[in-house]
Amino acid sequence: METLEAQRAALEASELSSVELVSSALARAESEGRSLGAVVGLRAEAALAEAEQSDERRRAGETRSPLEGTPVLLKDNMVMKGEPTTCASRILEPFVSPYDGSAAQCLQAAGAIILGRANMDEFAMGATTENSIFGPARNPWDPERTCGGSSGGSAASVAAGLTGFALGSDTGGSIRQPASFCGVVGMKPTYGRVSRWGLVAFASSLDQIGPFTHTAREAAWVLEAISGHDPRDSTSLPEAAPALESSLTGDVAGLRIGLPREYFVDDGAEPGVIDAVRRGVAELEAAGAQVVEVTLPHTPYVVSTYYLVATAEASSNLARYDGARFGRRADEVRDLDDMYRRSRSEGFGAEVKRRILLGTYVLSAGYFDAYYRKAQQVRTLVRGDFEAAFEACDVIAGPTYPEVAFPIGAKNDDPVSLYLGDIYTVSANLAGLPGISLPCGQLGGLPVGMQLLGKALDEATLLRVADAFQRRTDHHEQRPQGDGSAHAGNKA
Ligand code: GLN
Repeated sequence: METLEAQRAALEASELSSVELVSSALARAESEGRSLGAVVGLRAEAALAEAEQSDERRRAGETRSPLEGTPVLLKDNMVMKGEPTTCASRILEPFVSPYDGSAAQCLQAAGAIILGRANMDEFAMGATTENSIFGPARNPWDPERTCGGSSGGSAASVAAGLTGFALGSDTGGSIRQPASFCGVVGMKPTYGRVSRWGLVAFASSLDQIGPFTHTAREAAWVLEAISGHDPRDSTSLPEAAPALESSLTGDVAGLRIGLPREYFVDDGAEPGVIDAVRRGVAELEAAGAQVVEVTLPHTPYVVSTYYLVATAEASSNLARYDGARFGRRADEVRDLDDMYRRSRSEGFGAEVKRRILLGTYVLSAGYFDAYYRKAQQVRTLVRGDFEAAFEACDVIAGPTYPEVAFPIGAKNDDPVSLYLGDIYTVSANLAGLPGISLPCGQLGGLPVGMQLLGKALDEATLLRVADAFQRRTDHHEQRPQGDGSAHAGNKA
C-alpha cells in the first residue's frame, strides 16, 4: 500500500479507510521516518481527525480529488496553521505559523491528509539534507548514503513508502536531485505555476514548489491539486490549473527529444549515469520518439550564475531574521546591534552564513556590476539557449545529477564540489522552465535519475513522456532493500 495509486484504489474499493491508512502511516513515520531522519514533526491528532472527515465525505459520495484521504508530508519550509515551521534552522525553531500556506490549503481542499513535516537543508541551501538542526536525512537505499537535498526528507519518505507523495521546493534542483538519489519521481513546475504563499523564501526568482511520487500519473494528480493562480503570490501565473491526467496517452510517436551536446561530454557525469540515461532515451526512441542533438552553449556558466543570483536573493530574503519579529532572539543582549548580531550568529548554520556573506558581497557597491548584473545578463543568455533548443525539440533529456547517492559526510569539507553537482538542474530555475526527474536505472545498486526539461507551461508534455517511459519500464517499481541490493530492469 505504498504508492499513491494503490492507496487511492484501496480507498475507492473500501478495502481500507483513510483513518486506517493515516494511522499506519503515522506509526511508520514515527518509527522509520524518525530513524531515517526524514520526518521532523507530526500532527497526529489533527491528521486523524481529518482522516475521519475524509471517510465521511467518501461515504457521502463527496470525494474531492484523487488525493482524497491519502497521507502526505510537507517540506519544513511550507507553513501550516498552528504548526512549527523551522526550515531546519535554529533561528526559526520557536516559530509557529498563524496561517496555512497555499500548499497546505490546496492539499486540504483536495482531501489529502497532511501528516507533518519532512527534513531539509537549512533554508533549502544544500544538496544532502545534512545542513539541518535535526541531523541528516538518510537514503532508504543505503542509510549510510545521502538522500540528496535540499528536500531530502520528502524524497526519502516517498522512497521508503512512508507516504505515497510529498511536497518539496526546488530553487536549483532541490526536488529533482533528491528524487534521483532516492529512485522516485520529482517535478519542478514552471516558475509561477504553483503559488508560494507560505513557502519560506530562499531565492524568490527561482523558488518553486512541486511533488514527489512514484509515477508521472501520480505527479499529475498532485500538480493538478496545487497549481493555479493565487493573487497572494505576485509571481503566480494567471493560468488556471491545467488538466494533466488526460494528457497521459502513452503516445510519444513523432515527439522530438533533444539531447544537449554539453550534457553528454566525457568529463561530465559519471559514465554509468550517462549509460543509464542513454538507455532511457533509447526506450523512448523505441516508443516512437525522435532523438535530435541540441546545444545549450552557456551550460559552463550556469552554476556560477545560479550561485550569484541565489546567494544575492538569499542575503536579502534572510535579512528579516533579526531576532525582532521572527523566531529566535539571543538572550541578555547589550543593545539593538548586539541583538541582531548575536541572534543571527547563534541562529544560522555555517552554510547559510556562507551564502549570506557571498550574497551580500555580490550585491555590494563596487562589485554589483561585476557579479550580480553580469549574472543577470548570463541568465538571459541561458534562457535564450533554451528558446533556440526548443525550436528543434519538444523536451530535453539528460542526467539529473552527475553521480548517484554518495556517502553522508563525503563532501562536507568541499562546498564547491557540491555546487558543481548542480550543473544539470539549475538551468531550469534560471530559465523558469519545468523539469522532472524519474528513475531510469541503477548503478551499483543505487538509483539513477533521468531529467526531462520542457517548455514553459508545458508540464503536460513532460508528464506524457515520463508516463510513456514508465509504461514500458519498471525502474519506478524497484524498492530499496535497505542494503542497496535491489536491481532494476526493463520490461520484456
Ligand atoms: N543545491 C542547490 C543549492 O544548494 C539547490 C538548492 C535548492 O534547490 N533549494 O542551492
